Amino acid sequence: MLNSSLQQLGSALRARKISSVELTQLYLDRIAALNPALNAYVTTNGGTSLAQACAADALLAAGKAQPLTGIPIAQKDIFCAKGWRTTCGSKMLANFVAPYDAHVIAQFNNAGAVNLGKTNMDEFAMGSSNETSYFGAVKNPWDRNAVPGGSSGGAACAVAARLCAAATGTDTGGSIRQPAALCGISGIKPTYGTVSRYGMIAFASSLDQAGPMARSAEDLALLLNVMTGFDPRDSTSLPRDKEDYVRDLNKPLVGLRIGLPKEFFAEGLAQDVAGCVNAAIAEYKKLGATIVDISLPNSRLAVPVYYVLAPAEASSNLSRYDGVRYGYRAPEYSDLTEMYEKSRAQGFGAEVKRRIMIGTYVLSHGYYDAYYLQAQKIRRLIAQDFADAFKQCDVIMGPTSPSTAFNLGEKGDDPVQMYLSDIYTIAVNLAGLPGMSIPAGFGSNGRPVGLQIIGNYFAEALMLNVAHQYQLVTDSHHRAPQNIGL
Ligand code: GLN
Repeated sequence: MLNSSLQQLGSALRARKISSVELTQLYLDRIAALNPALNAYVTTNGGTSLAQACAADALLAAGKAQPLTGIPIAQKDIFCAKGWRTTCGSKMLANFVAPYDAHVIAQFNNAGAVNLGKTNMDEFAMGSSNETSYFGAVKNPWDRNAVPGGSSGGAACAVAARLCAAATGTDTGGSIRQPAALCGISGIKPTYGTVSRYGMIAFASSLDQAGPMARSAEDLALLLNVMTGFDPRDSTSLPRDKEDYVRDLNKPLVGLRIGLPKEFFAEGLAQDVAGCVNAAIAEYKKLGATIVDISLPNSRLAVPVYYVLAPAEASSNLSRYDGVRYGYRAPEYSDLTEMYEKSRAQGFGAEVKRRIMIGTYVLSHGYYDAYYLQAQKIRRLIAQDFADAFKQCDVIMGPTSPSTAFNLGEKGDDPVQMYLSDIYTIAVNLAGLPGMSIPAGFGSNGRPVGLQIIGNYFAEALMLNVAHQYQLVTDSHHRAPQNIGL
């Protein structure tokens, strides 16, 4: 059961070979056994999950099941879920119980899926290692000395360790793809505006995008079918017809043009990662693809541009946490100003404060033109690079992360080193394009390597097809970590 695809689980549930209650209990027992060591979940609520499973079993018995009915899904703790504690990895929201469902949560509920729990994450999704969480770091199930990546590190860990059937994540600069790569799973960040941000706690609104994390591209397609769709409650939600992402999975890849950006294979890329990525590309050639050398000349500016724009938006979004309406409030203060100051000083962690200060600085009078405006202009050039590239190729490929998972604590006191772990993912968010990561073997230390696939706007079905065809002829996505009780 634990290695089954979502399609297989759905069939087993519909054939009544297993009930949703049994399946949910199986995962809850695994979480009870393994979560103390891995710390993938911040909150579970077995009673609520089992009640949902019971309702799903009734739908299954009545023949009213949809593809994901009865399947236990882990939700990143950035999504508000009614009645569930929703912390966003922060002390600021450590006791916040959401009074409503995010769009993503509602979509899964409507599909009859079971909410298995809320996964750990970097505080307010700021980080690449899951070490900024107020609830402690998550361990990489492949090697517990290593980080799982971030910010959706709990989700990636839970999928890899078979602590859920699949999970949700969010990706502002790489937070689905990088942890997927570091934990040896598959993840896709769709085109900006494809999945509603309603009820998803905001970090940098022009970049934030939710997406699924699972073991295979086939599973991602089923999850994306549930997550996408127009939502009038998010002003950047795109009014498009719903797509079936499963439809193209089995198309042959003969004639596919793969662009390889020379900037993604330059200095800074670990040899073992380059080796795995090149081997994957050789596999694609066997499948009939042709290779095109391309260039994304402005991509070298993506990290500095992102670290102006994302903190600017974050400083504005996080101004709502003032201790007044909800969230943490300092226990002692003498007046209103001191209440604000102390609540924010005590409620936010160091990385969040760093971003708020940078953001406030770059937006302030006298610096706005020099930093914020300049960064917006370069963002436009980065998007233009991709537009030029997609005249020559159908998808772009490269590494997801410059190295395999680094050790816990290794980059803790060097924010710039930490920021550079998203060097290949961030430009995709700045352009609003879809990007995914799939397992592509293992590095010299035995830790997983991810292959990144970048598509043009709305090319998710093609990307999933490209990923699925590779997964049909390779097996790294089937490999499971040791010591997870399988
Ligand atoms: N690691 C990047 C950051 O720290 C991206 C995070 C994300 O995608 N949420 O901002």
